[in-house]
Amino acid sequence: MRPRKRPAVPRLRPPYRATPLLRRARFQASSRREASSHDLRRRESRRHWWRNFGRRVRVAPRRARRGRDALRLRPRRRRAHGAAEVLDQLTHCNCRVLTDRLQFFGGIGGRREVMEDGTELRFDHGAPYFTVTNDEVAQVVGGWEARGIVAEWKAMFACFDRATGKFTDFEKEGSTKKYVGVPGMNSICKSLCSEDGVVAKFGVTVGKMDWLQDRSSWSLASLDGKDLGNFDYVVATDKNVGSPRFSGLTGRPPPLDLSLFPRLSVMVQDIPVRPCFALMVAFSEPLAMVPVHGFSFNNSDSLSWAFCDSSKPGRACVPPNRQSWVLHSTAEYASKVINHIGPRKPSVDALAKVAEELFREFQATGLSIPQPIFMKAHRWGGAFPAIAIGGDDKCVWDKSMKLAICGDFCASPSIEGAVLSAMRGASKIMGCLNCPSGL
Ligand SMILES: Cc1cc2nc3c(=O)[nH]c(=O)nc-3n(C[C@H](O)[C@H](O)[C@H](O)COP(=O)(O)OP(=O)(O)OC[C@H]3O[C@@H](n4cnc5c(N)ncnc54)[C@H](O)[C@@H]3O)c2cc1C
Repeated sequence: MRPRKRPAVPRLRPPYRATPLLRRARFQASSRREASSHDLRRRESRRHWWRNFGRRVRVAPRRARRGRDALRLRPRRRRAHGAAEVLDQLTHCNCRVLTDRLQFFGGIGGRREVMEDGTELRFDHGAPYFTVTNDEVAQVVGGWEARGIVAEWKAMFACFDRATGKFTDFEKEGSTKKYVGVPGMNSICKSLCSEDGVVAKFGVTVGKMDWLQDRSSWSLASLDGKDLGNFDYVVATDKNVGSPRFSGLTGRPPPLDLSLFPRLSVMVQDIPVRPCFALMVAFSEPLAMVPVHGFSFNNSDSLSWAFCDSSKPGRACVPPNRQSWVLHSTAEYASKVINHIGPRKPSVDALAKVAEELFREFQATGLSIPQPIFMKAHRWGGAFPAIAIGGDDKCVWDKSMKLAICGDFCASPSIEGAVLSAMRGASKIMGCLNCPSGL
């Protein structure tokens, strides 16, 4: 019996588009009939594409149909480790990226603390807020603001003179726009990590970076020797990436062996830093004698700043009259403590002693500071880089080794500096990938 002839599924030519239904019908039709050599070739090429999907970075110049001329970077499983802000740029390029982070505290950045009665408290124990002066960064931050990731913190700041016990230098209202992440500073990194094509991995310290000359790629391993894979590009965001300070902290050689990269070693070797202790503290009632949301200290040996964390947008305390504050120590006080206890992670007892000392100084202001319902100190050993190594580029870039070193230590010791540096690093990589800048 002659097989019944199936109706042919029409093939459309541009400008018509095959609808999903039509595509399915075409697929069903092709799978019913015996495969022609053309079909086999097509299937093999598809299998090949999927096999390689996620394995290689290949920039495929593709003249996009329907009037869009574009260079498209197909997503790969290869990953770059780097500054969070780089992700935003690279994901515009449809590049699959993975970030590894040294620390995570119940989330990306930010600090979640649970009191003895089970109440949850959240603190911005790192940067309390940020400002923007650079136009490029302002454009990015404007986008974050429009998406509700950051908001303006309409806070009044002043200076407190420890010697006279008076507030002075009240900031003119609205003189500088202060931004905070909403509902926490970590919202920025969270949003970047949830971009399409980004795979974020936490709690993994990159312990070794080997440049494979023959493959023109990097091989990364974790601190405990696990292979993390090969990568076409690496963005390193740690100021200790090639510094002996890494050994002081971990007991291991730094990830990047700078003796192999003399050009970089001059720049990256040992970046001086200013440390800081942050004291997270919560009160059951507002500090009635403090008329501002943030203030710096004059004439204090151990305290430099105080910020009312719960006055930021999206952080209302429960119950509502509870207040949370973050105090910053002076760099001199932090250096003295770190010189005494050593560079490794401080013990719980050492942190409790720091918390006591800083809080005592807060109470000594005479601002009727009540007993706290929660108090905990955190050490930032390398809080602020004391120099910027990036020069006009705002990053360190080695094209031949496809390595970008980005971070605040390349531009300025602030979030704005870190974003700017990351944007510059990202545009170097995108230049190599022939990918138009995301900005
Ligand atoms: C107490 C304090 C107060 C501050 N106040 C302000 C302020 O008021 N305004 C302001 O603008 N800025 C402030 N800053 C500075 C601001 O936080 C930094 O400038 C900014 O976070 C730097 O960003 P970055 O991406 O360069 O580095 P980081 O934020 O340090 O990011 C580097 C990332 O790389 C990860 N990493 C490092 N090494 C490895 C490794 N080997 N393997 C895997 N992951 C690794 C780290 O875990 C980290 O997540 C403050 C900072 C501190 C600590």
